[in-house]
Amino acid sequence: MREIGLQQVHPESWTLPRAWKRGYARASLVTPFAMPIPVAAYGWSGSTPQHSGPVPVVLVNANDVAEHLDSLIRTHGASWRGKALLIASNPDKPMRAYSQLLPLLQAATAAHAVVVLRHDTRPGNGIIHSEPVAVALPETIDTKLIAAVDLPVEQQKLIEHLLRLNRPVRINIDVENSFSAGPVPSNNIVGEITGVIHPKEIVLVGAHLDSWDLGTGATDDGFGAAAVLGAAQALIQAGLHPERTIRFVLFTGEEEGLLGSRAYVRQHAAEMANIVAAFALDWGAGPIIQLPTAGHPELLPLLTHFNDMTPQLELKPPTEGWLFMTDAYAFTLEGLPGIAPLVRAPGYSEQAHSAEDTLDKVSSADLRQATKVLAMAGFFLADTDKLPPGHLTPAQTADTLILGNQKPLLEVFGLWPFQE
Ligand SMILES: [Zn+2]
Repeated sequence: MREIGLQQVHPESWTLPRAWKRGYARASLVTPFAMPIPVAAYGWSGSTPQHSGPVPVVLVNANDVAEHLDSLIRTHGASWRGKALLIASNPDKPMRAYSQLLPLLQAATAAHAVVVLRHDTRPGNGIIHSEPVAVALPETIDTKLIAAVDLPVEQQKLIEHLLRLNRPVRINIDVENSFSAGPVPSNNIVGEITGVIHPKEIVLVGAHLDSWDLGTGATDDGFGAAAVLGAAQALIQAGLHPERTIRFVLFTGEEEGLLGSRAYVRQHAAEMANIVAAFALDWGAGPIIQLPTAGHPELLPLLTHFNDMTPQLELKPPTEGWLFMTDAYAFTLEGLPGIAPLVRAPGYSEQAHSAEDTLDKVSSADLRQATKVLAMAGFFLADTDKLPPGHLTPAQTADTLILGNQKPLLEVFGLWPFQE
C-alpha cells in the first residue's frame, strides 16, 4: 500500500483467542480391503488419541445431526467409544448439518470417539477441503476436541456403501493439530486516498488476506485482495482526488467468521455513520457482473446511473439482492450498504477452501476487469454530488435481513446480532 502511494497506511490489530496449527493427517482403509484415504483436518479440531490402531467406522445419519442432535447423542453416544464416526452424505439441510459439526464433535469427544469424518458439502470430485469446525468461532476455543477430517466424496460414498451393506469397516487414522497457549494478534491492513472536500465521509473497498492452507488462496481471496490494491493503484496513477475518502482495507480472519471485519466495525464504531458503502470482493476469480446492494434500495438509482456511465464494464442492473457471508456482511449488520460484488466464477464453489485454490485459476483479463469495477465504482460513490439517505436503524436492518431471507443463515452461523 505504501509503494502504491496510499495515505495513512497502517496495520490495525485485533486478537484471536488462540491460534490453530495444522500438523499431519493420515488415513487408510484396513478392512474390508487396504486403500489410502486422503484426509485434511477441519480447522480448530484436535488430534486422534495416540496408538488408536485400526478403528471401526460407524455411520451417523446426517439429517439427525442437522435436526435431532440431542436425541442422536442420547441414543447412540454411549456406543461411540473407540469408533470413527462417518457423517453420511447428502443431508436435506447441508448448512444446518454443517452448523452442527462443532456440537457433534464435542459430543463425540465426550463419548471418547476417535475421529469424526465428513465430506464437505461443496461440490468437486477427488478433492479435500478444510474450513473451521464452526463458521463463527466461539469466544472460547476448546483445545481438547478430538480430530474432525474432510475426505473426498468418492471415499465417503465407498465407505458409506460398505456400511449400508453391513460390512465391517476399519480404518487407520492418525491426526495431530495444535493450539497456541494463549491469544494471538492479527492485523487488518488499512490505507486510503483521503477525500479533498469531505475527508470524513468514506467509501470502503476491501477484501480478505487470510485463506485456507490446502491451496494458496489465489481465488479466495487473493483475487479480491489484488483487485483492491489494483484499484488503489489505478486511481493514484490517474491522479484522481475524490471529494470523499476511499479507504482500502485488507481484512484478516474472514474465514473464521468475519473476525477481522467485525473487529474493524467495533474499532471504528464512531465512524460507521460516515461510511457511504463498503465493498468486499470475495466471490471467486472472474469478472464482476453485478453490484447487489444487500437490502439497500436507496443506492439503486445511484448505481444505475453508474452503470449508464460505464457501459464498457458490462454490468447487469444493480439489485437489492444478497450474497451471503464475507466481510461486506459485517457492514450490512451495522445498517449500511455492504456490497459484495457478484462475480462470474463457475468453478469457485469447488475451488474455495480446497487444494484447487491456486493461481492457475486466475485470468489477468478478469482481474483487470474486477479492478476497473472497484476503482470506478469506488471513485463514483466517493465523488458524486448526490448521496443516498442515511443508514438503517438496527430494527430496520433486522427487518430487511428477515425480508431478504438472511436470518436463518445468520442464525445457523451464529452471526445474528439482533434481539427480538
Ligand atoms: Zn473468502
